[in-house]
Amino acid sequence: MLSSILIIYTGGTIGMIENPETGVLESFNFQHLKDNMPELKKLGYAVSTIQFDPAMDSSEMGPESWMKIVKIIADNYQLYDGFVVLHGTDTMSFTASALSFMLENLSKPVIFTGSQLPIGMLRTDGKENLITAIEIAAAKENGVPVVPEVCIFFENDLLRGNRTSKINADNFNAFRSYNYPNLAEIGIHIKYETHLIHRPDPTQPLKAHYLFDSNVVVLTLFPGIQESLISSVFHARNLKAIVLKTFGSGNAPQKPWLIRLISDATARGIIVVNITQCQAGSVEMSRYTTGLQLLAAGVISGYDSTPECALTKLMFLLGHNLPTEEVRRLMNTNLAGEITLNPEY
Ligand code: ASP
Repeated sequence: MLSSILIIYTGGTIGMIENPETGVLESFNFQHLKDNMPELKKLGYAVSTIQFDPAMDSSEMGPESWMKIVKIIADNYQLYDGFVVLHGTDTMSFTASALSFMLENLSKPVIFTGSQLPIGMLRTDGKENLITAIEIAAAKENGVPVVPEVCIFFENDLLRGNRTSKINADNFNAFRSYNYPNLAEIGIHIKYETHLIHRPDPTQPLKAHYLFDSNVVVLTLFPGIQESLISSVFHARNLKAIVLKTFGSGNAPQKPWLIRLISDATARGIIVVNITQCQAGSVEMSRYTTGLQLLAAGVISGYDSTPECALTKLMFLLGHNLPTEEVRRLMNTNLAGEITLNPEY
């Protein structure tokens, strides 16, 4: 039987067209994508499409659009073998991270892709990205999907979605997963690294989640950062959690006021998660005194989490109204392959 794939077009450059008068890129009707890709029909899969109306630039997206995508997947889950989400690249890593938590017990591929150049342009990267994403979403072995995960496929990389960051605004090769290897080697053939791919318990049905709390912030430390600035962030109204981007393996300056502000915040129930500003590697607060003092002040480790993932995971867990201790515990639990608890660096 033909594999059936649902393409969910949310927006982004891939479906854009140049306004001939202003030269500005504008969202276009999804029909444009089909018109420019007769190859879609040749693939040999039953491909259907659903389009966001209006199509969105991914900078406009947030929990509401994440829920919209999840609702489409959940409503159509039994009808399709896999899903391809066409999405703007700018916040694709946030959406893919959020979906990895929202789609509990996922047993079918959800492959995000997009492009740096509109699909209507001669040198577009959109066509290849879309065709390969469809192939990955349709891939099965012994009738079982090969990649039952939320992934980003871009250029030649198949990456676990919640491990990715957008690292280049110009290049076709726009995404990286620094702390987890690629899930496939993509050349003439697609060679899946099956030992790296997450396998769900097949007896568990998909459970879609729709709850988020956005009272979170990402704070990047820098040399010379002022007490007044940190204090105003830590005292923001309704703030529930902070992703603190620290130096190296999780270090912060040994300033008594900083430790006081953090201890006070954690005593008030605010969760402070430590992740590194470095692109690769993990937080290890017990390595230096400058990290140890954060641990003593109640900061929890974000291990090797990306900022996108730490933030969306907090929003997801806080949305479920769990006790603070439970959110802290789950932040230190690997829920969807998002953190390495015992890194081998
Ligand atoms: N601004 C666009 C977006 O993220 C860029 C892209 O699609 O690559 O929606």
